[in-house]
Amino acid sequence: MRFAKFVDYLARLEATTKRLEMTAIVAELFKDANEDDIAPIVYITQERLGPAYEPIDFGIGEALAAEALMKATGKGKDEIKKLYKLRGDYGDVAKELLPAEAKKLTVAQVFERLMQIATTSGEGTVATKTDLLADLLKKLSGAEARYVLRIPLGRLRLGIGDPTVMEGLSWSKAGDKSLRPQIERAYNVCSDLGQVARIFKAEGVDALAKIQVKVGNPVRMALAERAKSSEDIVTRLGKCAIEHKFDGFRCQIHKQGDTVRIFSRNLEETTTMFTDIVEGIRKQIQAKTAILEGEALSYDPETGEFHPFQVTMQRKRKYDLENMTVKFPLRLVAFDLLYVDGKDFTGEGYSKRHDKLASIIAPGERVQISQHLVTQDAKEIEKFFMEAITGGLEGIMAKRLDSKYQAGARNFNWIKLKRSYQGHLSDTIDGVVVGFLRGRGQRAKFGIGALLVAVYDQKQDKFGTIAKIGTGFSDEEWVQMR
Ligand code: ATP
Repeated sequence: MRFAKFVDYLARLEATTKRLEMTAIVAELFKDANEDDIAPIVYITQERLGPAYEPIDFGIGEALAAEALMKATGKGKDEIKKLYKLRGDYGDVAKELLPAEAKKLTVAQVFERLMQIATTSGEGTVATKTDLLADLLKKLSGAEARYVLRIPLGRLRLGIGDPTVMEGLSWSKAGDKSLRPQIERAYNVCSDLGQVARIFKAEGVDALAKIQVKVGNPVRMALAERAKSSEDIVTRLGKCAIEHKFDGFRCQIHKQGDTVRIFSRNLEETTTMFTDIVEGIRKQIQAKTAILEGEALSYDPETGEFHPFQVTMQRKRKYDLENMTVKFPLRLVAFDLLYVDGKDFTGEGYSKRHDKLASIIAPGERVQISQHLVTQDAKEIEKFFMEAITGGLEGIMAKRLDSKYQAGARNFNWIKLKRSYQGHLSDTIDGVVVGFLRGRGQRAKFGIGALLVAVYDQKQDKFGTIAKIGTGFSDEEWVQMR
């Protein structure tokens, strides 16, 4: 597909905020694309050059963009600056300065060049990136350059999330959303919508079944529903396994020989944060290849006791990591197994996965299995729960004994019971900052006084505001936030 044609779609997407309309445009775009273009198209519409778990830092700021524009257009710095002040967006400046007629580059070619720019490193990087970007801009029309320039600057902002892409793919082939479950399953397993789109386009929906759990490809994590009480758990699950709910960092660990990679709950790579756990995996996991999950927790090497979350959290600091590793070492409490030595375990029941997991962990400091109690007695669960809480834990997790590992799903296969769900809010909720209020009084000097927060209403596909949040931030943080 010519990039010029892709740009027509981007312009249509930019002009709407209606979800259904967006899905229809995306579906038309996917139908129009060929097998070589579709993965780049998926990535670019989501402002990326690959799956989210492999973020690419373009290393292109506004100064570099302005410099490249100067080189591509032959205009002076002042003129570019003046136009930017007027338009507020380098994409719009590019549109104004570059020729109107459409050029010949294809989506795949533009993508390749963007990739080249992003991956340039070493000595003289800035100059090389500027030259490459200028060269690319010269080969584009104003309308094309408008979008290309917005990608590295992170200003495309089309609002196309994973659900819209998945729905669009289904509509592009079936004319309805009926293929979404197969598409979503494949995505949950490989976390790469570009790859899913390519296979779907080239080989059809049935070929998606061949996307399987693979070491190195993070799997979208299984999540838990909540229960009100121990009785509630027994009513839903009957005989089940009860584990402690540890409050630390969820880690999905991929081991391939001595190479160990760790991904967070949001599938960001966190390997460098957990050098002690990496070491422990190498030493204690008795398998060549494996994918396992667990919670990383800070503990006291003297007593073996786990520290509270606030202490574990300190590992997030970017500096002084080495010292932190010594002062507050981490231990992984492993609770699930997805893959080991060529065998996919996601289709096996919880009990089988847990037993196998226990069998591949050698004794040692860094990794331990999450102990469980198998019962159908609500009183026994209550006792386990009370002990957990008295011991300073967050609560318990109940797991359905025969449940598969359901990638990306939140359901009652896993149920969390925390200190108190009765009546008041003791759990965290996911909020989205949708605005802010200008500060008054003390906060006037920051220009910001509170954040306006919303929650997503899936049924209506809308964000409903629920609260203003004005506490918990330091002066520096307010300034930063503004
Ligand atoms: P929460 O704030 O309760 O952690 P969440 O939305 O981040 O909510 P949930 O699905 O609600 O995630 O709870 C599951 C989380 O609990 C997992 O992501 C994991 O980090 C943590 N956890 C702690 N102990 C366990 C355990 N034994 N088994 C599974 N998950 C556990």
